[in-house]
Amino acid sequence: MKNKFALYIHIPYCIKKCNYCDFLSFPGCSSVDINRYLAALTEEIKCGLDFYSGYELSSIFIGGGTPSILENSQLDLIFDGLHKSISGEIEITMECNPGTVTKQKAAFWHAGGINRISMGLQSANDDELKMLGRIHTYEDFLRSWDIISEEGFCNRSIDLISGLPYQTVSNYSETLNRVLALKPEHISAYSLQLEEGTPFFETYGEDDLPDADTDRKMYELTDSKLSGQGYHRYEISNYARDGFESIHNKTYWQRGNYLGVGLGAASMMDNIRFSNTRNMVKYLECHTGFVSGDNMDTVSWESDNLGTVFRERYSDGPEKLDKKSQMEEYMFLGLRLIQGIDIDSFNSEFGTDFDTLFGKKVKKLIDEGFLSRQGNRLSLTKAGIDVSNIILAEFLL
Ligand code: SF4
Repeated sequence: MKNKFALYIHIPYCIKKCNYCDFLSFPGCSSVDINRYLAALTEEIKCGLDFYSGYELSSIFIGGGTPSILENSQLDLIFDGLHKSISGEIEITMECNPGTVTKQKAAFWHAGGINRISMGLQSANDDELKMLGRIHTYEDFLRSWDIISEEGFCNRSIDLISGLPYQTVSNYSETLNRVLALKPEHISAYSLQLEEGTPFFETYGEDDLPDADTDRKMYELTDSKLSGQGYHRYEISNYARDGFESIHNKTYWQRGNYLGVGLGAASMMDNIRFSNTRNMVKYLECHTGFVSGDNMDTVSWESDNLGTVFRERYSDGPEKLDKKSQMEEYMFLGLRLIQGIDIDSFNSEFGTDFDTLFGKKVKKLIDEGFLSRQGNRLSLTKAGIDVSNIILAEFLL
């Protein structure tokens, strides 16, 4: 059986930078800049897919930034490079910003094979959207939502953020009600983090954010409202109707292979972690050097040496994860999933005894009510999910 991998494609452009966002994305770029980037990106996609042609592509996620700002002709460049590598029906997600969706675009996305839309709403309250610096109102979102629904997308996710400055439980509750009325297949609900270097970080402090009690109420409200409407929580911040968990995101939590292409994109293939430069000039230069300076036909694609060439040309610091790091990741990523981790699989993957390694720690956390062990499965309890950052850090060896 072929090894599988998920492909992440980064589009680092947005119409305008949101006030809370520290993602790698640039506002207001010209189509000349975008086209230059896409030329580099499509070459990188081609090289990556060729290099890993012995692997089976299991999902694709086009994220950003705002991939939905691309014109159809621009997106077509990406589709062109992908189609020959896709066999059968796989999950292909595109992130959309509600201010950028048109009927013509949505029809093109659907025809091009995109079968999952992840839409960043964040809040259904226009004052909050304004504070966040989003480019859309709630009405704009509804128009975009209707378009993607009418164009036949039936796997639709909505992103929300709670814990906004001065947000009340009642405002957040109204956002949840509005979202639930739309019956999306998937909802991601995160808490706001004040990220250094953002306008939010400069403007607001802890005193401006909801206090711990309010924050907890919002968090509990998310869980109770969503589970009351047929969603199951499958990851700390992610909820889905049956059959609509994100295949792509689960690859990350289950430590599957993933290849990230585009500016700053991170990869982990066969326990080797590498990531692209975050510097656009370097990214474009590096790419150009690869295309014009090397005759790729003279190098055997099979050679280990080429693995090094590929990764060093395209990325910063290939790092082979040692067994200790792999075990740590297995724990703190796997425990993010509500189903938890499989202790037998851990033992067979690492040829070790879980209880010898973690038995004492696990017993203590079970006694304290943060973990639950049912047969060979270990998972966070509700109390454990509440303080997940602290519990997950316990598994650093
Ligand atoms: S649209 Fe998304 S990526 Fe772009 S600035 Fe806003 S939050 Fe960041």
